[in-house]
Amino acid sequence: MDDIRIRCPKCNWEADGQAHWVCTCGHEWDTFSTGGRCPSCSKQWDATQCVDKKIGGCQHFSPHLDWYENLDSIVDELKEELEEKV
Ligand SMILES: [Zn+2]
Ligand SMILES: [Zn+2]
Repeated sequence: MDDIRIRCPKCNWEADGQAHWVCTCGHEWDTFSTGGRCPSCSKQWDATQCVDKKIGGCQHFSPHLDWYENLDSIVDELKEELEEKV
């Protein structure tokens, strides 16, 4: 799964594994470590905001899944594997 890269679909800022996201409950975490769910209050974030311009982001919101590059190819591979087993 190393070929999944996580980038902002709008400006290509690449997620660096740091806790840049703050939930409405005040918890700070790396939203990509939990698939967009706050580990503190379990709120599911369908859209993910890009980071502050100071660290290279654009601050625009994008659907969480749009951040994962190569996700479609991995899903296709999984589907092929499943079809082979049938
Ligand atoms: Zn929360
Ligand atoms: Zn961005």
